[in-house]
Amino acid sequence: MPALATADECLAHTLQGFRDLVGARQCAAPAATTLWRSFMVHGKHADVSPDNREVAEVLGDGNTRKFVLRHTDGAKTESVLLPLVGKTGRLRTTLCVSSQVGCAMGCTFCATGTMGRIRNLTTAEILAQWHHAVHTLEARVTNIVFMGMGEPMDNFDAVLAALGVLTDGAGPAISARHIGISTVGHVDGIRALTLAMAKGGLRSLRLAVSINGPNDDVRGELMPITRRWGLDDVVDALDGWIDAGGRPVLLEWVLIPGVTDDPTYATELAARFGHLPCRVNVIPYNPIEGRDWPVPDEVTIDRFMRAVRDTGLRVHRRATLGRHDAAACGQLVTASRSSSTR
Ligand code: SF4
Repeated sequence: MPALATADECLAHTLQGFRDLVGARQCAAPAATTLWRSFMVHGKHADVSPDNREVAEVLGDGNTRKFVLRHTDGAKTESVLLPLVGKTGRLRTTLCVSSQVGCAMGCTFCATGTMGRIRNLTTAEILAQWHHAVHTLEARVTNIVFMGMGEPMDNFDAVLAALGVLTDGAGPAISARHIGISTVGHVDGIRALTLAMAKGGLRSLRLAVSINGPNDDVRGELMPITRRWGLDDVVDALDGWIDAGGRPVLLEWVLIPGVTDDPTYATELAARFGHLPCRVNVIPYNPIEGRDWPVPDEVTIDRFMRAVRDTGLRVHRRATLGRHDAAACGQLVTASRSSSTR
């Protein structure tokens, strides 16, 4: 007997969407519900054809785990599992997912940017990262961040559909409160996400924007996107996010010695963003191949964080996890790029 549905049909749909899909094949709603829930919650069902992707590699330091998922066309993506004890003392495991193979944005501090964009991921391919993390690697994923390979706003429709599946209470059931989207400052994407967020269901979603420079000159050296949308445009889009009821924004700042660590930048940053409910997230630079920037020492990190705090902005330091396995922020790159283009 042929399977009633494919793995991708489960992964790409909410329960309601799946019921609509298979309903047209004369599959009754209760059976469709059992099938979808079994595949999503328990990992498999006899009437769902198996997921042909495979976890090609797992690297870890006993804590952080990076895994490479080989998709059906041979393209590879990297995802990272990051366990952290939260403020309440409970263990949270965050899954950092990729939204594209490679990335077109070309940020100079990021290994993924050196690949260029090879292709977008489908909704099923985004969800497959969650499914393999939970059912192959047996991780208890509590949080999701779209901070892996790719710019989520550059693959907006697939990412938005993935948010619908991830938050479906009958399946992954991850609250929007525990999901974060990180963007390079893609203004059209921020505006589109604002509309989706304001409609409901995603109201408590977290939004993070990569800033890394207090003005367009400094930022433009690191982030080519600045030529398309300057910081004034980014601030305008973030004002729209807050006005529509969005949560305070995370402003990400990759701290690179000699490049982004000037304490006077903090004053400029506060002048631009101080009116927004926000928090600055300082990310100590993680080394990538082809760049000879050093890792910032503790004195440099403390000095910059103090300068930001002195302006009245809230500031937080991102824990550095996974640096030795190239699983840290900005380090994700699939080594066999050629395999991604097959
Ligand atoms: S930092 Fe993000 S947006 Fe920039 S190149 Fe890397 S993956 Fe792309």
